[in-house]
Amino acid sequence: MEYDIIVVGGGPAGLSAAVRAAWVAAPAVTYRARVLVLDAGDAPGGLSRWQPLVMNSPGVVFTKRELKSMLRSCDLFGVEIKQGRVEALRTLESGGFEVTTADATYQCLATVIATGCRLGHRNEHRLFHHNRVLWFHDNATLDQVMEQLDANDRIKSICLCGSEAVAATHQYLMKPRRVELRTIAEPPYAEDPVPGVERGRLTLIEVDTAADRLRLQVESMYGAIDNIECDVLIVDFNAYQKTASSLGFLQCAPRRFANGFISTGRDMGCDVPGLFAAGDATSTPFSVVKAMSEGTVAGFAAYAHVCALRTGTAPNLFPFFPYEI
Ligand SMILES: Cc1cc2nc3c(=O)[nH]c(=O)nc-3n(C[C@H](O)[C@H](O)[C@H](O)COP(=O)(O)OP(=O)(O)OC[C@H]3O[C@@H](n4cnc5c(N)ncnc54)[C@H](O)[C@@H]3O)c2cc1C
Repeated sequence: MEYDIIVVGGGPAGLSAAVRAAWVAAPAVTYRARVLVLDAGDAPGGLSRWQPLVMNSPGVVFTKRELKSMLRSCDLFGVEIKQGRVEALRTLESGGFEVTTADATYQCLATVIATGCRLGHRNEHRLFHHNRVLWFHDNATLDQVMEQLDANDRIKSICLCGSEAVAATHQYLMKPRRVELRTIAEPPYAEDPVPGVERGRLTLIEVDTAADRLRLQVESMYGAIDNIECDVLIVDFNAYQKTASSLGFLQCAPRRFANGFISTGRDMGCDVPGLFAAGDATSTPFSVVKAMSEGTVAGFAAYAHVCALRTGTAPNLFPFFPYEI
């Protein structure tokens, strides 16, 4: 096995897991884990790259500075970070996991899934600052967004995207409007399709700067590719909050909630030995504090799993040992 632990997703949850898994080995010296983070974005950080995230108490935020310091810790403790979207994760008969990206295949003894709950497209965070990709969290905000878009003559078409619950938003928006509206529901799908709501997975978002429009690529549930042009993409986070998991690459089958998110135990372990999950991938509430704390626990537990396999004894770990580094 080239790696002990592979963390899939380098957002707050994945980076916390990686730092913890690598850091715990530094003072304990029982065994030093080799940790790799694979992230699909053009740089690690996940949603924390979009905007400062307010943590639990007012005034405490997770900003680029905190992200930088997590990345410095990764560097300090020898965590490797590579760019790559994981396309398949399967268990090996000999134990451990095989993790495949478009460019490489890796093997490891433990995996932490920290892929968040969003689309996870390259450049996604940049798009959010172009006012071409908008989001909202309640109908009052949506009304405001729609009013502004309706008043802008240059906006002719809007694509509304979310998971199955986007159908409710679509119906809310059904009053006649000047702009053309297409609605796409991503999997998992409910039994009955909703009239006017297309079904498919958004696989690409690009800005066509020459035409000043967005180009989307949608893979239908039957595998056909549809290229859509629109002026604005509205992402329905209400819908995503309920069902949006981005776990299509999983070829092993940990227990899942009905809405598709991974169900874990208290140590963030799934019912597949060596498989752990953290952050938005394990369901709501979506918050950076939850992501980091679950990541910390998952990294710790993944390290314990690996150390027991490598050395034959469970490590004697105490999470709050006063480390000297
Ligand atoms: C607009 C907005 C505002 C928010 N504001 C706040 C706030 O103020 N306070 C707060 O606490 N929370 C806020 N949140 C929520 C917070 O950002 C998330 O809860 C947190 O980022 C979750 O961390 P994560 O690591 O689980 O997932 P993410 O941050 O989503 O990171 C997941 C990472 O996994 C990668 N990935 C996905 N699929 C793959 C794959 N197949 N292979 C490899 N890598 C993959 C992605 O590229 C991404 O980097 C906000 C979210 C949004 C969208």
